[in-house]
Amino acid sequence: MATERTLSIIKPDATRRNLTGKINALFEDAGLRIVAQKRIQLSEAQAGKFYEVHKERPFYGSLVSSMTAAPVVVQVLEGEGAVLKNRDVMGATDPKKAEPHTVRAQFAESIEANSVHGSDSPENAAIEIAFFFAGTEILP
Ligand code: ATP
Ligand code: MG
Repeated sequence: MATERTLSIIKPDATRRNLTGKINALFEDAGLRIVAQKRIQLSEAQAGKFYEVHKERPFYGSLVSSMTAAPVVVQVLEGEGAVLKNRDVMGATDPKKAEPHTVRAQFAESIEANSVHGSDSPENAAIEIAFFFAGTEILP
């Protein structure tokens, strides 16, 4: 499997509870490397644009509010099959359905405040990475 990059976001529910390090330890233990990282406050416009694919879903407004409620850590993870590997470490969207060892099973508060985001395909990863990072900010 090829080396890939994926976009990871540590969401406000997790930054608020000071869980950035604990969550990133799980990514690093799985063989993912953090090759870019910054802590930022998302604006409503930015969060709305990032989640535009979910615009028609009933939770869109609430999701945008929750993503702007506190800072997030946006980061690029690199590794063999990074897109799927990251999603394996994250666990299912609903923490009640997530495998016990995963980030969401251990840390998520709810299906919405579920501690992390991860790109769902290499194509979307490229789009999402470019949304937050210049190529010069990614340092393997
Ligand atoms: P993400 O895209 O954040 O990595 P995901 O791919 O597991 O998560 P999506 O279906 O893409 O889940 O939904 C995007 C985000 O919207 C979820 O991470 C969660 O915060 C929120 N969300 C999804 N389903 C619901 C729901 N039924 N109720 C409330 N919020 C939801
Ligand atoms: Mg998704």
